[in-house]
Amino acid sequence: MTRREHIKLTGLTAVTFASPFTSFSKFNFMTDSKIFDVIIIGGSYAGLSAAMALGRSLRNVLIIDSGKPCNRQTPYSHNFITQDGIKPGIIAQNAKEQVLNYNTVKFLNDFAIGGKKIKNGFEITTENGEKIKSKKLIFSTGVKDIMPDIKGFSDCWGISVIHCPYCHGYEFKGQKTGIMANGNTAFHVASLVNNLTDNISILTSGKNDFTIEQTEKLKKNKIEVIETEISEIEHDNGSINNVVFKNGKKMNFNAVYAAIPFVQHSNIPASLGCEITEQGHIQVDDFQKTSMEGIYACGDNSTMMRSVANAVASGNIAGAMTNMELTHDNF
Ligand SMILES: Cc1cc2nc3c(=O)[nH]c(=O)nc-3n(C[C@H](O)[C@H](O)[C@H](O)COP(=O)(O)OP(=O)(O)OC[C@H]3O[C@@H](n4cnc5c(N)ncnc54)[C@H](O)[C@@H]3O)c2cc1C
Repeated sequence: MTRREHIKLTGLTAVTFASPFTSFSKFNFMTDSKIFDVIIIGGSYAGLSAAMALGRSLRNVLIIDSGKPCNRQTPYSHNFITQDGIKPGIIAQNAKEQVLNYNTVKFLNDFAIGGKKIKNGFEITTENGEKIKSKKLIFSTGVKDIMPDIKGFSDCWGISVIHCPYCHGYEFKGQKTGIMANGNTAFHVASLVNNLTDNISILTSGKNDFTIEQTEKLKKNKIEVIETEISEIEHDNGSINNVVFKNGKKMNFNAVYAAIPFVQHSNIPASLGCEITEQGHIQVDDFQKTSMEGIYACGDNSTMMRSVANAVASGNIAGAMTNMELTHDNF
């Protein structure tokens, strides 16, 4: 594949590049010395939102994206006004088309594998061998959820095994619901989901570690706790039928909430010196600035509040703040 072939300009084939920036079709990342104002790594909701603020400020921006948003398996996205019940890929596609209408914003389908500080900026290396420079960096790389080793779990992820009552709880209201978690996390989810259904079982898959007070509250709300280890989730195309336990018994559910661990999708922020919190997020201030000069982060990689709306909001701030830094550098 040539370099130009893997540069995707979705929805823009008929656009001519009348921007002050070098004509993109002639641009060669390897040999041109042109430096982008900003490279945005991660071109999903957070990254595209940052790019819009920057494109509207005439900044030369390159978005690098590997096309693996965390919600890609979920059929419909909820709880974001104007986009409620829309397929996640459609929201991203519409956003990408709107963002790429700004001629100074470019999009590269690739995976960033390394980054280093250079004089007056940064250099990013990609899987396809590009070396691209910019004055500032925005990481909107999201996180990678780690699936447990339970047969059927990953097939149901985002469909009937869900992570968030606000995103998918309404669709399973009043239905038989499991919560695959233990201790404080299970207790917290149960207290939220209790408002959506009165048919809840907590599946701790091992000895429960609730406090006496928590156990009493669960009993008061008629929430049963099952400690038997889980071996499998039986399903039809991701729609759960039964949770199967190691003792051979099965329980029927319509939905199961699961709290699972995650890792950063990209280790470049950490390798550039960005502080990572105890919970595993990139440390940012109220304006999405990381602990490293010239580097911002937004979206899931830097918050526990995982939602499309929040990713868009934090991307909007990161884009505006990066533009302000560029303005101050030159004004
Ligand atoms: C199963 C599931 C269902 C969900 N449902 C909902 C819902 O209904 N409503 C809601 O509001 N929220 C929902 N969420 C949460 C929502 O999807 C996230 O909050 C949102 O996707 C975060 O956006 P983001 O841009 O930060 O990251 P992501 O959308 O995860 O995108 C990160 C992007 O960065 C790219 N990337 C990462 N590293 C690199 C690299 N090194 N080089 C190039 N590209 C890279 C990835 O390929 C990806 O495209 C759901 C989440 C999950 C897991």
